[in-house]
Parts: sequence; C-alpha cells; structure tokens
Amino acid sequence: MASAEVDVQLVLVTGASGYIASHVVQQLLKNGYRVRGTVRSKKNATKVQHLLNLCPDAQHELELVEADLLDVESWKPAVDGCSHVIHVASPFPSEAPKHEDEIIKPALEGTLNVLKACQNAGTVKRVVVTSSIAAVSGGFTGESNVVFSEKDWPNVDTIGTYEKSKTLAEKAAWDFVDKLKVIEKFELAVINPAFVMGPMLSGSDCTSMVVLKKLLQRQMPALAKINFAVVDVRDVAEGHVKAMTLPEAAGKRHIMCADNIWMKEIAIILEDEFKSQGYNVPTWVSPDIGIKFFALFDKNVRLVVSALGKVTVFDNARMREVLGVQPRSIKETVIDMSYSIIEGGFVPKKSKYHGPPKVEVKPTES
Ligand code: NAP
Repeated sequence: MASAEVDVQLVLVTGASGYIASHVVQQLLKNGYRVRGTVRSKKNATKVQHLLNLCPDAQHELELVEADLLDVESWKPAVDGCSHVIHVASPFPSEAPKHEDEIIKPALEGTLNVLKACQNAGTVKRVVVTSSIAAVSGGFTGESNVVFSEKDWPNVDTIGTYEKSKTLAEKAAWDFVDKLKVIEKFELAVINPAFVMGPMLSGSDCTSMVVLKKLLQRQMPALAKINFAVVDVRDVAEGHVKAMTLPEAAGKRHIMCADNIWMKEIAIILEDEFKSQGYNVPTWVSPDIGIKFFALFDKNVRLVVSALGKVTVFDNARMREVLGVQPRSIKETVIDMSYSIIEGGFVPKKSKYHGPPKVEVKPTES
C-alpha cells in the first residue's frame, strides 16, 4: 500500500478496542505502519487482549496508551509524535440513552479534544474521522426514490440522538480544520459507513452484532419489514487506511456502503447456512401493525417504527472510484460475522454446529 509513497511516521487510532477500530489497527499493522492505539483502560483484558494478537508478524509492535474522549489532557500524549490520526472512538449504543448528553458529549467534545491535540502537536498531516451515513441521511428518513450522496446532511432538529451525535461531531470537525491558521493546517478526510457487519476481532460485544445475535438465538419471534444499507467491516477498515494516504481523499467525505438488504433476506442467508447446524432462525415477517403494537411497550422497538418498509439508498461511487474499495457481498459479510459471533461465545454452539468451512491451503509449487 501507500506507505512507501506517503511519509507516515506514526498512526494514532482512537478507540482501538472497538469493533471497527480493531480491524483498522490490524490492516495498518499488516501494511507495515507504526501504530499507537488508545483504549480507556489498559487493565481491561477483554478490551485489550485481542489487540496484542492482531498481527503476530507485524514489523512494528502495537503501542497502547490510555485516553478518554472527555479528558482533554489525555490526548496530548496520545497524539505526541503522530503524523496521521484515525479518530474512530465514539459511542455507538444499542439502546436509546437516558439523556442525549451521554452520546453527544463524547462524540462532539471528544472529536474536538482529539483535533485540538492534533493542532497543538504540530506533527499531524492528516486526520481521518469515522462519521456515519447517519450524518448523511439522518437515519431512517430516506424515501425509496432518493439516492443520498456526500453532499447531503440531515436536519439536526428532526433526528435521533445517535444521528445527531454523528452529525454534530462531523460538522464540528470540518469547521475546526476550516478555521486553522495556515501554519497549523492539517488535512481532514471523513469516512461515512453504512451499517457495518462482518467478523469481529474483539472479545467484547458490539452494537453491530445485535441483529444477527438475536436472529441466531430466535430472540425475536417475527421479523420487522426493515431494510439495512450494509458494508463489511474489512472494507471499512481498508477505506480508512486508503483515506489516510490517498491525496484525492483529503477534504472529502466518503460514503461506504455495499448494498441494501431486507431483514428477511438476512434471515434466509442465516437459515441456509445455520439451520442444519441447529439454529432455528425466524423468517416470518410481521405486518407493520404488529411491530407498531410492540412499540407501545418497548422503546427499542419504537426506534424502528419510522423505518418500516423504507429503503434508504446511498451513492457509493467515491468508495469504489476514489478509495478503490470493491465491496464484498453481503452474504459473505453476514455468514462470516455469524461464525465469529458463535466462535466468540456470544451465541452458544449447538450440538450440530460444525464451524466455518475449512479454507483449503494449496501446496506451493516448487
Ligand atoms: P464500538 O465497538 O462500540 O467502538 C466504539 C469505540 O469508542 C470503543 O473503542 C469505545 O471504547 C470508544 N469510546 C466510546 N466512548 C468513549 C470515551 N468516552 N472515551 C474513549 N473511548 C470511547 O463501535 P463501532 O461499531 O466500532 O463504532 C466505531 C465508530 O464507527 C463510531 O464512531 C461509530 O459511530 C461509527 N460507525 C459505526 C457503524 C456500525 O455499524 N458499527 C456505522 C457507521 C459508523 P470502549 O471499548 O472502552 O467502550
């Protein structure tokens, strides 16, 4: 990759323990970069242990430092000596928070704390920020005849808390780099992933696995008529690494989305692969009225009501043409993630479970 062309001294990855960031760290190490990752506590083995085994053949050992998004002082030593920063850390909750500040403060103030540390360090050339399609379409507001692109932003007064956190944080990042004095300038590139799925590297759970975990365990009796715009975590990590070095990625947002898929289609992929292995995946789609009834009693079901039957489509041309990422099929993404959920112990192994198909290694010709 581009390490020979671009002078990358040291890359900081914030929130290295997270689902997406772990893949970013792994791909950076595999590509020979020197990487420093931030975690909230180095003593938390569940969050840290997998990071130490990500790339046994890495040219440079991964360095870990502690930093908290809301602790401005923690970012100075974290950024010290870095030429590139990939800012992934931000809350991605699976449930609605009690108060919006729980999400918005770390997303917004955290982004500004990281950027201020980059400004003060004076060594940083480019920052890549992980935003979201939530900062493009505002979540579930798309209509089937609209194709969202990088020029779109939602109205923060009409969107949910998570969507607001990503929108405010990304807008603040663009505003921050715009206002830098010439002498302080560094570049910004933004990645806006769709719903990220694909294998998990970390030992702790993540919001992205919730749908598959529930389906594999039949924790929902019926499916909702919900559509997802999906992208594979390995493709998202590749996009971050490319956005760090490609000249044409600077100053741009990049939507990363493979395709759209209905929950029913996901359930059928799972049934085809896992029914014979003892998993009884629900495939019956409830009429919308049934979901709306459950929403009266369950605030998490309430979150999906506005999305019933809607398809939000995204233009992924920049991902393919600028970042050069050719997305994997969603079938591969769903199956690989499901095996990692089971292998990781998040869903119990059934007696008929045989594990992922063995990859045949062909002997090399002499
Ligand atoms: P994740 O596994 O929950 O990772 C979130 C990371 O942020 C974790 O490392 C977490 O640290 C860290 N973090 C949260 N609050 C923090 C704080 N106050 N101080 C320091 N670190 C903090 O979620 P993910 O799916 O990988 O998401 C990573 C990023 O991608 C987020 O910015 C999210 O908005 C964005 N994104 C995700 C998706 C998706 O579908 N997964 C889609 C689009 C965008 P701990 O491990 O210590 O909690």
